[in-house]
Amino acid sequence: MAVRTREAIASPDLVSVSGITPLSTASRILGVRVFDVGQGDAIAVLAKVGGAEEVALQLDYGGREGHPFATSADIDTRMPVSQNRLLMLTHWDEDHWSSASKGSQAKSAKWIVPRQVTSPRAVRFSATIDDIHCIPEKHVGQTIRFTAANGDYILAEKIGLFPGAFAKNEDCNKSGVALAIVHRTRNGDEAILLPGDAPFDKVAPFVSLEKQGVKLRAIIAFHHGAGSHWTASTHKLLQNWSRAPILDVLFSCSRPNSYSHPDDGRYKALLPGANFHMTADMRTNAAVFKDILF
Ligand SMILES: [Zn+2]
Repeated sequence: MAVRTREAIASPDLVSVSGITPLSTASRILGVRVFDVGQGDAIAVLAKVGGAEEVALQLDYGGREGHPFATSADIDTRMPVSQNRLLMLTHWDEDHWSSASKGSQAKSAKWIVPRQVTSPRAVRFSATIDDIHCIPEKHVGQTIRFTAANGDYILAEKIGLFPGAFAKNEDCNKSGVALAIVHRTRNGDEAILLPGDAPFDKVAPFVSLEKQGVKLRAIIAFHHGAGSHWTASTHKLLQNWSRAPILDVLFSCSRPNSYSHPDDGRYKALLPGANFHMTADMRTNAAVFKDILF
Protein backbone atom coordinates (compact mmCIF):
# COMPACT_ATOMS: atom_id res chain seq x y z
CA MET A 1 0.00 0.00 0.00
CA ALA A 2 1.29 3.45 -0.87
CA VAL A 3 2.32 5.49 2.12
CA ARG A 4 1.16 9.08 2.05
CA THR A 5 3.92 11.66 2.34
CA ARG A 6 3.32 13.59 5.52
CA GLU A 7 5.10 16.64 6.88
CA ALA A 8 4.83 18.77 9.99
CA ILE A 9 3.64 22.36 10.13
CA ALA A 10 6.77 24.37 10.95
CA SER A 11 5.31 27.77 11.87
CA PRO A 12 6.54 29.24 15.18
CA ASP A 13 4.61 28.89 18.41
CA LEU A 14 2.58 31.77 19.76
CA VAL A 15 4.64 33.51 22.41
CA SER A 16 1.57 33.86 24.61
CA VAL A 17 -2.06 32.95 24.08
CA SER A 18 -3.03 35.89 26.28
CA GLY A 19 -2.05 38.15 23.38
CA ILE A 20 -5.01 36.79 21.41
CA THR A 21 -8.08 38.82 22.35
CA PRO A 22 -10.81 38.45 19.71
CA LEU A 23 -13.52 39.77 22.05
CA SER A 24 -11.63 42.59 23.75
CA THR A 25 -13.85 45.28 22.19
CA ALA A 26 -17.05 43.20 21.95
CA SER A 27 -20.06 43.97 24.12
CA ARG A 28 -21.59 40.55 23.35
CA ILE A 29 -21.45 37.60 20.97
CA LEU A 30 -24.22 37.54 18.36
CA GLY A 31 -23.77 34.04 16.93
CA VAL A 32 -22.09 32.39 13.98
CA ARG A 33 -22.16 32.81 10.19
CA VAL A 34 -21.68 29.58 8.26
CA PHE A 35 -20.59 30.14 4.67
CA ASP A 36 -21.51 27.90 1.75
CA VAL A 37 -18.07 26.75 0.58
CA GLY A 38 -19.18 23.48 -0.94
CA GLN A 39 -17.36 20.59 0.73
CA GLY A 40 -15.55 22.08 3.73
CA ASP A 41 -15.98 24.57 6.54
CA ALA A 42 -15.76 28.36 6.85
CA ILE A 43 -17.44 29.95 9.86
CA ALA A 44 -17.34 33.51 11.20
CA VAL A 45 -18.03 34.29 14.87
CA LEU A 46 -20.15 37.47 14.98
CA ALA A 47 -19.93 39.96 17.82
CA LYS A 48 -21.35 43.36 18.66
CA VAL A 49 -18.64 46.00 18.73
CA GLY A 50 -19.56 49.63 19.40
CA GLY A 51 -23.14 49.03 18.28
CA ALA A 52 -22.10 47.39 15.01
CA GLU A 53 -21.85 43.77 13.94
CA GLU A 54 -18.29 42.59 13.44
CA VAL A 55 -16.52 39.33 12.79
CA ALA A 56 -14.56 38.59 15.96
CA LEU A 57 -12.78 35.67 14.39
CA GLN A 58 -12.94 33.49 11.34
CA LEU A 59 -12.78 29.74 11.95
CA ASP A 60 -11.54 27.83 8.89
CA TYR A 61 -11.62 29.07 5.31
CA GLY A 62 -12.25 25.97 3.27
CA GLY A 63 -14.10 24.96 0.18
CA ARG A 64 -12.83 22.55 -2.39
CA GLU A 65 -15.17 20.05 -3.99
CA GLY A 66 -18.32 21.75 -5.29
CA HIS A 67 -17.29 25.23 -4.14
CA PRO A 68 -19.39 28.19 -5.33
CA PHE A 69 -16.52 30.51 -6.32
CA ALA A 70 -16.41 31.57 -9.98
CA THR A 71 -13.16 33.53 -9.59
CA SER A 72 -10.63 34.06 -6.82
CA ALA A 73 -12.02 37.60 -6.36
CA ASP A 74 -15.33 35.91 -5.61
CA ILE A 75 -13.77 34.33 -2.52
CA ASP A 76 -12.87 37.76 -1.11
CA THR A 77 -16.31 39.15 -1.91
CA ARG A 78 -18.27 36.28 -0.40
CA MET A 79 -16.06 35.75 2.65
CA PRO A 80 -14.45 39.12 3.41
CA VAL A 81 -11.46 39.08 5.74
CA SER A 82 -10.06 42.49 6.56
CA GLN A 83 -6.39 42.84 7.35
CA ASN A 84 -5.20 41.68 10.79
CA ARG A 85 -8.39 39.84 11.43
CA LEU A 86 -7.95 36.66 13.40
CA LEU A 87 -8.25 33.43 11.49
CA MET A 88 -8.16 30.14 13.41
CA LEU A 89 -7.88 26.72 11.84
CA THR A 90 -9.49 23.64 13.31
CA HIS A 91 -7.04 21.40 11.44
CA TRP A 92 -4.98 21.15 8.29
CA ASP A 93 -7.19 19.08 6.01
CA GLU A 94 -7.50 21.02 2.78
CA ASP A 95 -11.26 21.43 2.88
CA HIS A 96 -10.69 23.73 5.90
CA TRP A 97 -8.20 26.19 4.37
CA SER A 98 -8.03 25.83 0.58
CA SER A 99 -9.99 29.02 -0.26
CA ALA A 100 -7.32 31.06 1.52
CA SER A 101 -4.69 29.93 -0.99
CA LYS A 102 -6.83 31.24 -3.87
CA GLY A 103 -8.36 34.44 -2.48
CA SER A 104 -6.17 37.40 -1.58
CA GLN A 105 -7.52 38.67 1.78
CA ALA A 106 -7.28 35.73 4.14
CA LYS A 107 -3.52 35.43 3.71
CA SER A 108 -3.13 38.85 5.36
CA ALA A 109 -4.99 37.80 8.49
CA LYS A 110 -3.40 36.74 11.75
CA TRP A 111 -3.48 32.92 11.72
CA ILE A 112 -3.64 30.74 14.82
CA VAL A 113 -3.27 27.09 13.92
CA PRO A 114 -2.64 23.66 15.41
CA ARG A 115 0.76 22.06 14.87
CA GLN A 116 0.01 18.85 13.02
CA VAL A 117 1.41 16.25 10.68
CA THR A 118 -0.30 16.90 7.37
CA SER A 119 0.11 17.06 3.59
CA PRO A 120 3.20 18.68 2.02
CA ARG A 121 0.78 21.02 0.23
CA ALA A 122 -0.62 22.27 3.53
CA VAL A 123 2.90 22.80 4.87
CA ARG A 124 3.89 24.74 1.73
CA PHE A 125 0.77 26.89 2.05
CA SER A 126 1.42 27.61 5.74
CA ALA A 127 4.85 28.97 4.77
CA THR A 128 3.22 31.60 2.55
CA ILE A 129 1.42 33.26 5.50
CA ASP A 130 3.36 36.11 7.13
CA ASP A 131 1.58 36.13 10.47
CA ILE A 132 0.97 32.52 11.46
CA HIS A 133 1.49 30.93 14.84
CA CYS A 134 0.84 27.53 16.34
CA ILE A 135 -0.94 27.04 19.64
CA PRO A 136 1.89 25.91 21.94
CA GLU A 137 1.68 22.22 22.79
CA LYS A 138 1.67 23.00 26.51
CA HIS A 139 -1.93 24.19 25.99
CA VAL A 140 -3.14 20.86 24.59
CA GLY A 141 -6.05 19.68 26.67
CA GLN A 142 -6.37 23.08 28.31
CA THR A 143 -9.25 25.34 27.44
CA ILE A 144 -8.47 28.85 26.26
CA ARG A 145 -11.25 31.31 27.06
CA PHE A 146 -12.06 34.65 25.39
CA THR A 147 -14.72 36.77 27.11
CA ALA A 148 -16.91 39.66 25.90
CA ALA A 149 -18.03 42.55 28.13
CA ASN A 150 -21.41 40.94 28.96
CA GLY A 151 -19.83 37.62 29.95
CA ASP A 152 -20.44 35.76 26.65
CA TYR A 153 -17.42 33.66 25.82
CA ILE A 154 -15.57 31.51 23.32
CA LEU A 155 -13.82 28.33 24.43
CA ALA A 156 -11.01 27.01 22.25
CA GLU A 157 -9.01 23.87 22.81
CA LYS A 158 -6.38 21.92 20.90
CA ILE A 159 -7.59 18.43 21.63
CA GLY A 160 -4.60 16.23 20.70
CA LEU A 161 -0.82 16.32 20.99
CA PHE A 162 1.69 16.75 18.18
CA PRO A 163 3.10 14.45 16.99
CA GLY A 164 1.08 12.15 19.20
CA ALA A 165 -0.43 8.78 18.49
CA PHE A 166 -1.23 9.59 14.89
CA ALA A 167 2.23 10.85 13.88
CA LYS A 168 2.82 8.39 11.05
CA ASN A 169 -0.41 8.83 9.22
CA GLU A 170 -1.92 11.39 11.46
CA ASP A 171 -5.64 11.68 11.81
CA CYS A 172 -5.76 15.48 11.80
CA ASN A 173 -9.37 15.44 12.91
CA LYS A 174 -8.50 14.38 16.44
CA SER A 175 -5.50 16.58 17.17
CA GLY A 176 -6.91 19.90 16.00
CA VAL A 177 -8.79 22.77 17.58
CA ALA A 178 -12.49 22.92 18.48
CA LEU A 179 -14.51 25.93 19.60
CA ALA A 180 -17.65 26.48 21.66
CA ILE A 181 -19.49 29.80 21.61
CA VAL A 182 -21.48 30.52 24.78
CA HIS A 183 -24.11 33.21 25.27
CA ARG A 184 -25.40 34.09 28.72
CA THR A 185 -29.15 34.61 29.04
CA ARG A 186 -31.50 35.18 31.96
CA ASN A 187 -32.78 31.65 31.45
CA GLY A 188 -29.36 30.06 31.47
CA ASP A 189 -26.37 29.85 29.17
CA GLU A 190 -26.60 28.54 25.60
CA ALA A 191 -23.86 27.06 23.43
CA ILE A 192 -23.06 26.70 19.75
CA LEU A 193 -20.57 23.90 19.04
CA LEU A 194 -17.95 24.23 16.31
CA PRO A 195 -16.09 20.90 16.38
CA GLY A 196 -14.34 20.98 13.00
CA ASP A 197 -14.01 17.32 12.04
CA ALA A 198 -13.66 16.01 15.63
CA PRO A 199 -16.48 13.95 17.17
CA PHE A 200 -18.35 16.04 19.77
CA ASP A 201 -17.49 13.68 22.62
CA LYS A 202 -13.74 13.98 21.91
CA VAL A 203 -13.85 17.68 22.77
CA ALA A 204 -13.46 18.10 26.53
CA PRO A 205 -14.93 21.63 26.71
CA PHE A 206 -18.12 20.31 25.05
CA VAL A 207 -18.42 17.50 27.58
CA SER A 208 -17.90 19.93 30.42
CA LEU A 209 -20.47 22.45 29.08
CA GLU A 210 -23.07 19.67 29.00
CA LYS A 211 -22.22 18.75 32.61
CA GLN A 212 -22.53 22.39 33.67
CA GLY A 213 -26.06 22.55 32.27
CA VAL A 214 -25.27 24.97 29.45
CA LYS A 215 -28.07 24.42 26.95
CA LEU A 216 -27.49 23.31 23.38
CA ARG A 217 -28.45 26.12 20.95
CA ALA A 218 -26.79 24.91 17.73
CA ILE A 219 -24.29 22.41 16.41
CA ILE A 220 -22.28 22.27 13.24
CA ALA A 221 -22.29 18.54 12.54
CA PHE A 222 -18.71 17.31 12.94
CA HIS A 223 -16.81 16.19 9.84
CA HIS A 224 -19.55 17.51 7.53
CA GLY A 225 -22.05 15.13 9.09
CA ALA A 226 -19.97 11.99 8.45
CA GLY A 227 -21.14 8.87 10.21
CA SER A 228 -17.56 7.66 10.69
CA HIS A 229 -16.07 8.20 14.16
CA TRP A 230 -19.60 8.52 15.55
CA THR A 231 -19.72 6.28 18.61
CA ALA A 232 -22.12 5.43 21.42
CA SER A 233 -20.48 8.25 23.40
CA THR A 234 -21.24 10.75 20.64
CA HIS A 235 -24.85 9.61 20.65
CA LYS A 236 -25.15 9.76 24.43
CA LEU A 237 -23.63 13.23 24.75
CA LEU A 238 -26.08 14.75 22.26
CA GLN A 239 -29.03 12.76 23.56
CA ASN A 240 -28.50 13.84 27.16
CA TRP A 241 -27.71 17.47 26.42
CA SER A 242 -30.51 19.80 27.55
CA ARG A 243 -31.72 21.86 24.65
CA ALA A 244 -32.37 25.58 24.24
CA PRO A 245 -35.91 26.46 23.01
CA ILE A 246 -34.51 26.44 19.47
CA LEU A 247 -31.88 23.92 18.32
CA ASP A 248 -30.24 24.35 14.91
CA VAL A 249 -28.19 21.57 13.32
CA LEU A 250 -26.12 22.52 10.31
CA PHE A 251 -24.29 20.34 7.80
CA SER A 252 -21.50 22.03 5.85
CA CYS A 253 -20.93 20.04 2.67
CA SER A 254 -21.47 20.03 -1.07
CA ARG A 255 -24.13 18.08 -2.89
CA PRO A 256 -23.14 15.69 -4.25
CA ASN A 257 -19.77 14.92 -2.70
CA SER A 258 -17.42 11.99 -2.97
CA TYR A 259 -17.66 11.13 0.75
CA SER A 260 -21.42 10.50 1.02
CA HIS A 261 -21.70 13.27 3.58
CA PRO A 262 -23.85 13.94 5.47
CA ASP A 263 -25.30 11.01 7.34
CA ASP A 264 -28.10 13.32 8.44
CA GLY A 265 -30.57 10.57 9.26
CA ARG A 266 -28.79 9.75 12.50
CA TYR A 267 -28.99 13.40 13.62
CA LYS A 268 -32.67 13.67 12.66
CA ALA A 269 -33.53 10.51 14.57
CA LEU A 270 -31.62 11.63 17.64
CA LEU A 271 -32.71 15.28 17.72
CA PRO A 272 -36.39 15.44 16.73
CA GLY A 273 -37.81 18.95 16.55
CA ALA A 274 -34.47 20.55 15.75
CA ASN A 275 -34.07 22.75 12.65
CA PHE A 276 -31.83 21.09 10.10
CA HIS A 277 -29.85 23.07 7.52
CA MET A 278 -27.44 22.15 4.79
CA THR A 279 -25.04 24.65 3.22
CA ALA A 280 -25.65 23.01 -0.17
CA ASP A 281 -29.30 24.09 0.03
CA MET A 282 -28.32 27.76 0.32
CA ARG A 283 -27.11 27.73 -3.26
CA THR A 284 -30.66 27.21 -4.51
CA ASN A 285 -31.59 30.58 -3.01
CA ALA A 286 -28.31 32.24 -4.01
CA ALA A 287 -27.53 32.63 -0.30
CA VAL A 288 -23.89 33.04 0.61
CA PHE A 289 -24.17 32.09 4.26
CA LYS A 290 -26.53 31.03 7.02
CA ASP A 291 -26.50 32.96 10.28
CA ILE A 292 -27.29 31.21 13.54
CA LEU A 293 -27.89 33.91 16.13
CA PHE A 294 -28.55 33.67 19.85
ZN1 LIG B 1 -13.30 18.50 6.76
